[in-house]
Amino acid sequence: MERKELIKKYKEFFEGKKHKEVVNAPLIPENDPTVLFTTAGMHPLVPFLLGQKHPQGKRLVSVQKCIRTGDIDSVGDDTHITFFEMLGNWSLGEYWKEEAIKMSYEFLTKELGIPIGKLAITCFKGEKENDIPRDEESAKIWEKLGVKKERIAYLGRENNWWGPAGKTGPCGPDTEMFYWSGMREAPEEFNPEDEKWVEIWNDVFMQYNKTEEGKYEPLKQKNVDTGMGVERTTAMINGRKSIWDNPDLKEIINSIGILGNSNMLEPRALKIIADHLRASVMILGEKVSPSNTEQGYVLRRLIRRAVRYGKNMGIKENFTKKIAEVIIDIYKEDYEHLRENEEFIKEEINKEEEKFAKTLEKGINLFNKVATERKKISGKEAFLLYQSYGFPVEMTEELAKEKGIIVDMKEYEKELLEHQEKSRTATAGKFKSGLADHSEMTTKYHTASHLLLEAMNRILGKEKPIEQRGSNINAERARFDFSYDRKLTDEEVREIELMVEGWISTGANVERIETNLEGARELGARGIFDDKYKGTISVYQVGEKGMISNEICTGPHVKTLKELQGYKIKLSEQKSVGSGIRRIKMKLEDRKE
Ligand code: ATP
Ligand code: MG
Repeated sequence: MERKELIKKYKEFFEGKKHKEVVNAPLIPENDPTVLFTTAGMHPLVPFLLGQKHPQGKRLVSVQKCIRTGDIDSVGDDTHITFFEMLGNWSLGEYWKEEAIKMSYEFLTKELGIPIGKLAITCFKGEKENDIPRDEESAKIWEKLGVKKERIAYLGRENNWWGPAGKTGPCGPDTEMFYWSGMREAPEEFNPEDEKWVEIWNDVFMQYNKTEEGKYEPLKQKNVDTGMGVERTTAMINGRKSIWDNPDLKEIINSIGILGNSNMLEPRALKIIADHLRASVMILGEKVSPSNTEQGYVLRRLIRRAVRYGKNMGIKENFTKKIAEVIIDIYKEDYEHLRENEEFIKEEINKEEEKFAKTLEKGINLFNKVATERKKISGKEAFLLYQSYGFPVEMTEELAKEKGIIVDMKEYEKELLEHQEKSRTATAGKFKSGLADHSEMTTKYHTASHLLLEAMNRILGKEKPIEQRGSNINAERARFDFSYDRKLTDEEVREIELMVEGWISTGANVERIETNLEGARELGARGIFDDKYKGTISVYQVGEKGMISNEICTGPHVKTLKELQGYKIKLSEQKSVGSGIRRIKMKLEDRKE
């Protein structure tokens, strides 16, 4: 059973248990400014785990593409890659531990035919200081199903706890399932430290709500959220030690191997190239181009790191386009958009490689010279490598690590900032967004979007309220969709901009109120009251009692409009994105420029 069959089997199994399939969401989160990429199947479901009603019901199943840049340094081992696919099933306030674990057990042992002797389990060990008991409830269910006591280990927060996503909110223990990948028979006693035990699946039980005071109180809507890695599980059930022995990943590796010099091939480097180009193709497939900010910067790092390892392996010609082709071929049946955007992907990856290949050798020479002479890379030199030779600073750090020397990162950051000051007027803030803290800038846009909706309503929504129909925010701009049936005139646009700027100049406070649907109605909050929200919801009020804006939202937002002072509001690029839905772009422009 390979990747495709596993995915099919998983969906069918859970559909047979009344789960509805939710779509494989984009890698670039549509409505979450706090992260660059979707990192788990639960990610697109967060609002529903927080109590919003899901249109497809309370039992959901999905396969979700994920990117975890945090795992980039583990790439090359047997179990970690930056892009992977995650299967998952959810209970939104419906079934709980017993049913969830039973289904996991049934899928593993009956559907996949894994002998119970090859499995081991971890559960949460509890925390006295927080008054959270050991999760014996889960352990007992496993034992009842036939898992031996010796095969159940209790671990702490770093392994068996999830959440909350922010400072407060739903969180809880999880139970993880491990598969014995060793050649010999599995040891009687489970030792979680032994790497031959590979984690394949994780059932999270959201059962507490963490309060502002740091207390864990029982959650009203308890959820189950599970995640099973497709690559790992495929490898394990086929008796492979490493995910790199799966046919799809192997094919990518082989296609790279034949391009290199056979004396210079190195398994870890091959895996890194294969992984990075695979992830790059998936990101490019969503029409992101390499750049110096956000997702584009991650993409740039991935491609450039792959190119560097490729050159190390003696690959002479440009190769990324060729490998991209192989990757697209493998996955295009499941990911149509790869086929649709094939030309874009190949062109962009090749362009990025060409750009970098030109300066790579010179940059390496410079690096080596400094490294040998001074045994240290100063911030100025790291900046020069970035600015003139296109070395992402992470690459310089990696090169330095290989030589056992350090990079002065403090000085590098200072350098970067200083450069920003100098080039501010010259390049009209070209580096600005790359430097602004990602979450800080997007949080500002989030709040500004509330002001935008409010201003639109006061100016244009007298007859029929204008509703938000989606938004997409990054550190550079907000894309805002709203209900309206025509293009706004230049005067209207100006009026809206001025109204928002006027509010910002008051420096009013932004307050978050936790309430329920009824409470939000009483507060007169803006939002869609079609029972979409269940349980606790947040209302964000700007100004005294929400005089400026008063809206249901999951946040995050700035604490006061003072944080937005220093920006001008610039609206542009109006278009229609459906019948009765308009799109507009909003930029926060630096007043100093
Ligand atoms: P690990 O500790 O091994 O990194 P994790 O605890 O980070 O795993 P979860 O966040 O529980 O993993 O994700 C759910 C499942 O997704 C895991 O059980 C695993 O099968 C898979 N998974 C997680 N990270 C990766 C990765 N980098 N590459 C491949 N599969 C992964
Ligand atoms: Mg991990």
